[in-house]
Amino acid sequence: MLLGSVEAGGTKFVCAVGNENYQVKNSIRIATTTPQETLQQVTAFFKKYPVEAIGIASFGPIEIRKTASKYGYITDTPKKGWQNTDFLGFLKKDIDVPMFFTTDVNGSAYGEYVMSLLSNEDIDSLVYYTIGTGVGGGAIIDGQLVGSQGHPEMGHPLLKRHPDDVDFPGICPFHQDCLEGLVSGPTFEARVGMPGSEVPLTDSVWNILSYYVAQAVLQVTLILRPDKIVFGGGVVSEAFLKKVRSDFAKMLNSYVKVPNLDQYIVMPAIANNGSATVGDFALAKNLLKK
Ligand code: ZN
Repeated sequence: MLLGSVEAGGTKFVCAVGNENYQVKNSIRIATTTPQETLQQVTAFFKKYPVEAIGIASFGPIEIRKTASKYGYITDTPKKGWQNTDFLGFLKKDIDVPMFFTTDVNGSAYGEYVMSLLSNEDIDSLVYYTIGTGVGGGAIIDGQLVGSQGHPEMGHPLLKRHPDDVDFPGICPFHQDCLEGLVSGPTFEARVGMPGSEVPLTDSVWNILSYYVAQAVLQVTLILRPDKIVFGGGVVSEAFLKKVRSDFAKMLNSYVKVPNLDQYIVMPAIANNGSATVGDFALAKNLLKK
């Protein structure tokens, strides 16, 4: 069986074909330019392989409601030139196989969920956050992706401000000091004038970030009670998550029972940003079972 995966990002697309055990057989990276140029290369790649189904995990916002007239579109994205792009329609024109269309973080969440099951972890639910250029999250509950009016937007809840950070206005164009506005990668430039990759973990700015990310963990813990919360994206490291676990434990104050924090708040189990590819393969395979 050959399955397809499209991981569509703002700077690059990763297309892959793999087998039913989610092993990648071939893949290609395509620079994200115009929709026409980029999607044509996606189509050309998949035309070379007899794929039976394709999973697509895209940057957004996207329309995931199957009954909506713009189902399969990238909608009002800030990405220049990509507003109102009929992503799924473009692929369907030339490739006649079932396709599952979802967000990049849902794809990653599903990949991490499937990997947990394959590792014989006893879990039903999982939340995946990415903290990079933007912040987003996806959730699996009872093995299903959540969100029927649209996909979750977990990057934008409002938070209690850190006492040493009250003068920072936040950079989200919609809400200023929401989670994304306070912890996304570009907040390093805005706060300390250098990229996060150059800010040592001893810098107090990391304590501020940890305080906010721990609040996100607290909220999602209280609202969904997931089995596991995975953090991916360029801002995240094991050392940073250590701070987050410690802040979260203080905030939760043993209010509810959670798994051992080293197993509860974790980095992706799938290496090299491969979570979405595995998720896409699994979501594509599900389409063939139905
Ligand atoms: Zn926001």
